[in-house]
Amino acid sequence: MNLILLGPPGAGKGTQAKLLIKQYQIPQISTGDILRGAVKEMTPMGLKAKAYMDAGALVPDGVVIGIIQERLNQADCDKGFILDGFPRTVAQADALAKVLADLGRSIDHVISIVVDKEELLERITGRRTCRNCGKGYHVTFDPPKNAGVCDDCSAELYQRDDDREDTMRKRLEVYEQQTSPLIAYYQRELLLRSIQGVGSIEEIQQKIVSALQG
Ligand code: AMP
Repeated sequence: MNLILLGPPGAGKGTQAKLLIKQYQIPQISTGDILRGAVKEMTPMGLKAKAYMDAGALVPDGVVIGIIQERLNQADCDKGFILDGFPRTVAQADALAKVLADLGRSIDHVISIVVDKEELLERITGRRTCRNCGKGYHVTFDPPKNAGVCDDCSAELYQRDDDREDTMRKRLEVYEQQTSPLIAYYQRELLLRSIQGVGSIEEIQQKIVSALQG
């Protein structure tokens, strides 16, 4: 199954992708995670991407399309994949269709996770991430046992630069302007199913699984 999870930052795409990996035994491909890895490793791509990411802007299409092209050619994607955070522009969606066509493949489903803006701001600005293992927490909804410390590896928790409120507002604007046109794009392709991204993580997962089977 070749799946795209579409939705604004904070909609829960990453959380839901992790559950779908288990359910369908296919990998999650998160361009955000790959870019953060490159920033941490200080690769040339990471150094280029960091300024865009810190500002809440999109990294240039050419960079992320290159990442996806390389990733989709890897053997673990043979049985399918879950794209999380890609595509984010119409140019990326067109490029994705071409990369897949060259592999004799296409997208099967696009799930759009809908959450309103105030809820997104609350979710994202309370988000904390482990500096060592990357595990995610929320100061209100999913706090660690000891404030500021990862339950799993005891490393320090931090707030991603792009999760601060001013950057988050910018990211939501970028989503509205550059990514939300993909909803109509995939509607035209008859691939889109929208679900409300509110309720417990399990309830939302159930809605996604029903949409995929329906
Ligand atoms: P995410 O973790 O998906 O919210 O991504 C974090 C940041 O990485 C975004 O705010 C962008 O700066 C960058 N990024 C991730 N995916 C893409 C993409 N498909 N196109 C452009 N920039 C991206």
